[in-house]
This record gives sequence, structure tokens and C-alpha cells, in this order.
Amino acid sequence: MIINLLSDTVTKPTKGMLEAMFNAQVGDDVFNADPTVNELQEKLAVLFGKEAALFFPSGTMANQVAIKLHTQPGDQMICDKWAHVYNFEGGGAAVNSGVTSALIDGDRGMFTAEQVQQMINPDDIHYATSRLVCVENTTNKGGGACWDLNELKKIMQVCIENKLAFHLDGARLFNALVAKNEQPKQYGELFDTISICLSKGLGCPIGSVLLGSKEHIKKALRIRKLFGGGMRQVGYMAAAGIYALDNHVERLETDHENATKIAAILKASLYIKKVEPVETNIVIFYTNDTINDVDFVNKLKTKGVLITSMGQGKLRMVFHLDITSQMMDVLEDILIDLTF
Ligand SMILES: *Cc1c(COP(=O)(O)O)cnc(C)c1O
Repeated sequence: MIINLLSDTVTKPTKGMLEAMFNAQVGDDVFNADPTVNELQEKLAVLFGKEAALFFPSGTMANQVAIKLHTQPGDQMICDKWAHVYNFEGGGAAVNSGVTSALIDGDRGMFTAEQVQQMINPDDIHYATSRLVCVENTTNKGGGACWDLNELKKIMQVCIENKLAFHLDGARLFNALVAKNEQPKQYGELFDTISICLSKGLGCPIGSVLLGSKEHIKKALRIRKLFGGGMRQVGYMAAAGIYALDNHVERLETDHENATKIAAILKASLYIKKVEPVETNIVIFYTNDTINDVDFVNKLKTKGVLITSMGQGKLRMVFHLDITSQMMDVLEDILIDLTF
């Protein structure tokens, strides 16, 4: 038995999802003629109270298009030092949009309205024009941490006062919604644009969606084409997304419970130095100084458990819908019996 905790992107489509894909009505989406893509876009737009939505092959492309539609070359984007848009998109913000990044020294990937205010450049020709604030919920590098909605409201106010666009990288937004019992519309009303991954906890093989106003999405469609992201009979993938929204949202609770359970076992283990707080499906922890993190990963691998080493002694487990209760029993036994 392989227990793959490397990421929530390792899931394979369920039988029900494959059936939905098999039965999808499709057309050439570049001609706006794929009814299933349109249905998915409409479904998410309505859910979040936004005017329009656009389907993307990846979350990276959705974020990169959002950055480009909000900025001009030479502008500045404000985000956390751990942000995916800065760290894990190949330097795309600089390449695709020619923007510089002002990095906030946040807490587990989150920051305050005051910190945003301090980052905004004065209206002076020496400085790049601050144009965009990007927030990530849940935070990836921050271990699946969830934002406080009130702080986001304050940041929105700062954005309005300073004419800054406000983008949410919501790759795992549904994890936050489930964990904090919040409603999609509460996010829809705060942000200009929101990107959402269908291929993370929701269990689709590919797909992300960008939400925004009609005007923003019209612009996004042109930029997606420019980036080579136009897709043809992609309704097969959109059908997976519709199925996931109907069947895989509430069950995220199970992933969160599994993560919490394993974090408690790790915390009680002699070989562990520290376990970061768990709010959703990600567990970040550190082994004792006497134990090399790479050795730890390899030892678990020999027992069929795959986890990620993030460097500097930081280790990560991500829980998802392919982790069965039987796997959980086996994993608990392995961690309890582990010795060094
Ligand atoms: C996964 C992820 C993305 C998008 O990544 P892709 O692999 O391109 O789908 C964006 N932001 C965050 C925070 C992520 O975790």
C-alpha cells in the first residue's frame, strides 16, 4: 500500500467523476461553443456572486493572467514573501507582466492591512507604481492557514483608497470555506478577481477557474489566448469540475480531520520537535535536530509513506480524497511505531 501525502494534486478521478467526464457534451471552446465549459464557468460565477468566470488549464496560468490584466509593465505587485505568485510560478510576474514584487514579511503567508499600507509606494517618479495586492487562501507555504475575513475587509478598504486591484489566489479556497464555515459570496464581494484550483482538494485531473467582472474576464480571455491557453473540447475536464463542486466540497472536512489526527500523533512523538498549527489539510512539522530530515523522509518511504521535505528541516504531509480510512489506520500505526 502506498500512502501518498506529497500533495493534494496526486488524486486520480473517481468512478463518478470519470462517468461525468465520459458523458459530457462538448464543443470547440475557442469558439465559445463548449456547453459544459460554459456551465462550469456560470456555476462558479453564480456561487461567488461574480459576473463572469474563465476556465484555465492551471492555477499558475489563472494567476498570471490575473496579474497581467491588473497591471502595466513597470508596476508593482504587493504580496507575502511566501506567496505562490512570487515563489512558485517561475518568476512569471516579472516575465509575463514586467512587474516588480514588494514582499510583505507576514505570518504563515498572511499579513495585515497596516503592512499593505506601509508597502504602497508614494506617487513619485522614482518609484514603481503600486497597482495590485495578491492574497493567498489557504496559504500553501504557510501550511494551509486560513485568513481572517475581517482583515481581508480592511485590506480591501486600503485597496479602494489607494486604487489598487485586489486578487485572491484561492487555489485551496474551498478548504478555507469548509474549515471556517464561510460562504463563497463573502469572498466574491471582497476581491476583483479570484483564482480557484479544481485539481487540488477537489480532485480533478486538471483545471482552474478565474472569477471577476465581465470586463476583467473579457480581458482575461484575450490574455489567455496570448499565453497559449485556448482549449478546444475541454468540456470533458469542465465536467470533472462540475462533478467535484457537487460531490467533493463537503468531504474536505474529512481531509481536515485526518490532518488534525496525524498532527496530534506527531506532536506526541519523541522524534518530532515542532508541529505547526493545522487548520485544513496540510501538516507542516520538524524532526528533532538529531534526525536528518532526508533520512526521515526515506525511512517513511520504505514503509510506503510518501511525504515532502521542504528544506531547512521542514517536512510536509498533505491529505486528500485518495487517502482512505484504511490508509489512515496504517499510517497511524507506522507513525506510532517509528523509532530512531
Ligand atoms: C497549486 C497552487 C497554485 C496553482 O498551481 P498549478 O500547479 O499551476 O495548478 C496556485 N497557488 C497556490 C497557492 C497553489 O497551491
